[in-house]
Amino acid sequence: MSTAVIISLSVAGTGVVLFSVLFCVALVRARRLAKQPAPPKPKCPRCGSERIDIATSGLWDGINTGGGFQYGTCKDCGTRCEHRSAWDDQSRQVRYTDCIPTDEQWRQEVEPSPEQMRIQQLQSQWPFIPEDQKQVAQAAT
Ligand SMILES: [Zn+2]
Repeated sequence: MSTAVIISLSVAGTGVVLFSVLFCVALVRARRLAKQPAPPKPKCPRCGSERIDIATSGLWDGINTGGGFQYGTCKDCGTRCEHRSAWDDQSRQVRYTDCIPTDEQWRQEVEPSPEQMRIQQLQSQWPFIPEDQKQVAQAAT
């Protein structure tokens, strides 16, 4: 065997060893991630169904806490549901709660406010003239 062949074989061997080490590390990491429990699905607090028609979702933020929320209607019994996740800084865990939102909460989170509807209307009229200029333009004609 010539020196060139030996060198190229050892280079290839090192490559294979390196690749398998990286592969094992990736596999262990993937397994560790898979072991973490999947976040629970929104669940109807009244009938326990997981078939929720999500109306809106978003994120919220607090002092040393935060998480996500989803509002929706149960497809089985029609109950309005609130699914909320919150980071608990003391136990270093995410907590999930399901409850029935009040009418007030539902209105605030799901139904657009008059101000939001006005903005949406203005955006749909792009390119729009600001309302005060529109009056000026009308007065000029
Ligand atoms: Zn239900």
